[in-house]
Amino acid sequence: MTTIAIAGCGIIGAILAYELSRLYPRCPDLDILVIDRQPPARASTGAALGVMMGAISLKKAKSRAWKLRRDSLVRYETLIPELSAITGRSIPYNRHGILKLCTSPKPTLETWQTLADERRQQQFHLDILTPDTTADRFPDLRLDQTIAAVYSIDDRQVEPIPLLEAAIAAAQSQGVRFDYDGCVESGITDGDRLLGVTLRRSSGVSETLDLDALIVTAGTGSATIANALMAEGEPLTIMNVLGQALHLRPPSALPQNHPVITCDDVHIVPRSDGTIWVGATLEFPPVDCSDRALSDPIPDPQALDHLRRRATDFYPALEQADVISSWQGMRPRPVDRSAPVIEPIAGLTNALLATAHYRNGVLLAPATAQRAIEWVQQTQIPNPDRR
Ligand SMILES: Cc1cc2nc3c(=O)[nH]c(=O)nc-3n(C[C@H](O)[C@H](O)[C@H](O)COP(=O)(O)OP(=O)(O)OC[C@H]3O[C@@H](n4cnc5c(N)ncnc54)[C@H](O)[C@@H]3O)c2cc1C
Repeated sequence: MTTIAIAGCGIIGAILAYELSRLYPRCPDLDILVIDRQPPARASTGAALGVMMGAISLKKAKSRAWKLRRDSLVRYETLIPELSAITGRSIPYNRHGILKLCTSPKPTLETWQTLADERRQQQFHLDILTPDTTADRFPDLRLDQTIAAVYSIDDRQVEPIPLLEAAIAAAQSQGVRFDYDGCVESGITDGDRLLGVTLRRSSGVSETLDLDALIVTAGTGSATIANALMAEGEPLTIMNVLGQALHLRPPSALPQNHPVITCDDVHIVPRSDGTIWVGATLEFPPVDCSDRALSDPIPDPQALDHLRRRATDFYPALEQADVISSWQGMRPRPVDRSAPVIEPIAGLTNALLATAHYRNGVLLAPATAQRAIEWVQQTQIPNPDRR
């Protein structure tokens, strides 16, 4: 029996577990186990808005950042109906794109036009709109600060918690096991092979889990695991960047086919019940002179007020909106390197990091799963010779 353990059951771990189970459905020789120290949706994924800034992101066509976005957007189109069909669950998925309101002359219109040309060659469509055309098409918006808009019809938004729950249920139905009472603390190695990990239970008891491969998808907890297992190389540092968001009920709903609106890093997310999510603040921790976080950031109420005011600037109906709730969460941002980190743990041949997705973990989950599966296949886990 080959055991692949996935440490962390946020959106990255859950979608990876589902994709692996699809590749090896109910394989009697393969045990896929997802371990978390708590039930799902209590960490970063539970706070996310699920906005997928893919085609509209200013990433070069040849960059890793764009390829991950492209692969995810393509896979989401089949993944969402697939998960709904397997589980019978509804996963709210906004297919009406993202409308970006531009309030500053930079990036220039030429930059957007170049991006639109580049994206067209990759079968993604961006429309550059004048303020007048934007006003005609989206009459609920106030556009006095808008100098142009970019409408990305192929970008998406998904509700992260229903997606996470559906991925878990679908993986479970295909034989994946989930354990929500195991904090991964340390590893047992033999040369360059990881033989097992030590799990601490909530009861305080520690136990050893034997495994053939480990994929670390533990978000902000990944650095602790990686550094405990790493025999050589630079330690991984992940900084927690706080985000606060609001759930509002405006007096009248946006039309059902309305895109997500984004401006100056503020997202206005229309939901099918007529309510709106607004998010998210970007609050960094205090750092030392080497950019190391000294502590986690503390939510700033003024940042939340500013977020709402800024959203109201573009969608005035939010002025009279009732606040249903507000929430916060931490984004796992790698220090001194770009997000995400998808690479083997230094010194180990059978342990992979697939983590630190910062602001785009929901968007990048399917492409991350693809890269992790390629690694599983290249390292020949499960290895038919060992069965
Ligand atoms: C307010 C906010 C808004 C956001 N909006 C968006 C958005 O619109 N679009 C987008 O794409 N992304 C968004 N993000 C970012 C996104 O939420 C993250 O990038 C993504 O959720 C990371 O997923 P994950 O699975 O790596 O981590 P998590 O969801 O944090 O899951 C990691 C899991 O690992 C577990 N764990 C940690 N340490 C251990 C250990 N030692 N042993 C066992 N288990 C462990 C944790 O309990 C947790 O369940 C947002 C984030 C925030 C905070």
